Amino acid sequence: MAVIILITDYSQKIKYPLADFEITPDMAILDSDIPQTMTPKLIAYTGMDALTYAIENRSRFSDPLAKEAISMIYDNIITSYNGDVETRGEMHIAQCLAGMAFSNALLGITHSLAHKIGAQYHIPHGCCNAILVHITENLLHFKIDLVIIKALKPLFLKVSRLLFRFN
Ligand SMILES: [Zn+2]
Repeated sequence: MAVIILITDYSQKIKYPLADFEITPDMAILDSDIPQTMTPKLIAYTGMDALTYAIENRSRFSDPLAKEAISMIYDNIITSYNGDVETRGEMHIAQCLAGMAFSNALLGITHSLAHKIGAQYHIPHGCCNAILVHITENLLHFKIDLVIIKALKPLFLKVSRLLFRFN
């Protein structure tokens, strides 16, 4: 349920974002069987990407969607990473909510940097966001509440440790 698609030109190491409300789907089918086939790394990367969508949200009108997505990701990403069937389904819903939030508010500097750096150095998108988001949000001090950053820091560290252990 997002307003943006990306086309990656691997030979030029460039990602081309295309944003238009005309490409936003009218509906989404959230099939909980799909995330069951994902590797733990993909679960972590896509989960951190969704968390970044929600954190970068800058609209009061989509705040409820973003806050619910942050809460659901916080509650489910670790067990989802560890293969729990039910929480993988919850992460699927959280990602949709985060996508709906950013489709109304668009994205910020974290995603912009992640697109450039990820394309240049072949770093998975969600991994790049996970590395950058707490830096950019802390530096810019836009809208994010420091309480949220402090609450999420252990989650970032835990996901980073899990990823590092399996790299
Ligand atoms: Zn993203």
